[in-house]
Amino acid sequence: MDFALTDEQRNFRGYARDFLEKEVVAHRAAWDRAEAVDTAVVPKLGEMGFFGLTIPEEYGGLGGDYRTYCIGMEELGRADSAVRGIVSVSMGLVGKVILSHGTEEQKQHWLPRIATGEVLACFGLTEPDTGSDAGNLRTRARRDGGEYVLNGQKMFITNATWAGLCLVFARTGGPGPKGVSAFLVPTGTPGFHTREVKGKLGLRGQATGEIFLTDVRVPASALLGAEGEGFTIAMHSLDKGRVSVGAGCVGIIEGCLEAVVGYAGQRQQFGRPLASFQLIQDMIADISVERDAARLLVWRAAELIERGLPFGVAASKAKYFASEAAVRAANSAIQIFGGYGYLDEYPVQKYLRDARVMTLYEGTSQIQKLLIGRAETGVSAFL
Ligand code: FAD
Repeated sequence: MDFALTDEQRNFRGYARDFLEKEVVAHRAAWDRAEAVDTAVVPKLGEMGFFGLTIPEEYGGLGGDYRTYCIGMEELGRADSAVRGIVSVSMGLVGKVILSHGTEEQKQHWLPRIATGEVLACFGLTEPDTGSDAGNLRTRARRDGGEYVLNGQKMFITNATWAGLCLVFARTGGPGPKGVSAFLVPTGTPGFHTREVKGKLGLRGQATGEIFLTDVRVPASALLGAEGEGFTIAMHSLDKGRVSVGAGCVGIIEGCLEAVVGYAGQRQQFGRPLASFQLIQDMIADISVERDAARLLVWRAAELIERGLPFGVAASKAKYFASEAAVRAANSAIQIFGGYGYLDEYPVQKYLRDARVMTLYEGTSQIQKLLIGRAETGVSAFL
């Protein structure tokens, strides 16, 4: 693996950071308090190309490589994970599976809109009673002539209340993962309703919602892939999504490191800067090493994707390690800031609240360990 960045990748990091400092970092505390990102930032992110990073140019994207994608997600994670999620779900979880599993008509219709941020997409897998056990989801899709009729409920869906498109996973067949299919459902379709979930610990600027589907009729052409392929599509999408979450966590750790190095250099106690105390350096050293380790795991998964090699277990390792390391880093960062770290005047408490959910969504840390354990032992602990 080549650790060096190309000139394009380095330049991209520079543009992305400058843009995000002005358009996101300057507002993130206010958005966090208001529990809503100003959605005016969405078209600006679109203009900068964030929504189309790895979508090919023929469908309106930048056609970038996966390392560039990781750099974009790192910078978004450093700036505000609420914003990273908006981009990553729309382009990564939905846009990329339309690219890999969609018909030409579906790609032509949705990808240029997603790649520019004109349409936000959401990923509707989790339900009130099925989270980790997503293969047993209960939302149903019944074929009726040239249409499908969807009924059910979804929970914790990122972008739900802002999205124009929802990738809905619903049961068309018998029990278990093989009975699940995927549908591209415009959110304006009659019977599609959302309700925002408020009061989250972190990612407060992001619209997380419940979705209620009551006799939602879509044409048969809304089916993504074949009937019964939905669960495979969902897992394929989450494998790549985990690389994005991991990269976002690297950004959180980077942000924590910058914050503590700056603060420990200027804050004086006992007549000396905090940075001169060995116990403070101990925490800073751990944050630094874990930032590097997390980044290498993420970049390795990205490299495997780039080379067309199996990457699922590498993605689980990257997501598991990076998310847990981000929580550790943000927790240590608060410790280094002392009482000031507990106030929202400084970013470290937000980093901790945002990092915490990374160990839960797109497969909890326990689920990642079961996937890694299955790969090592050949025995599945799921069934
Ligand atoms: P459960 O599955 O009930 O798990 C509870 C606990 O039990 C966890 O600790 C888990 O690790 C453990 N557990 C479960 N099964 C096992 C097992 N076999 N062995 C050991 N331990 C186990 N979902 C979407 O579809 N789309 C989204 O856009 C989306 N965005 C989200 C945004 C936020 C802010 C949040 C909080 C969640 C989001 N989710 C989304 C849902 C998320 O993916 C789920 O919350 C997650 O998969 C866990 O499911 P659960 O909450 O039902 O927990």
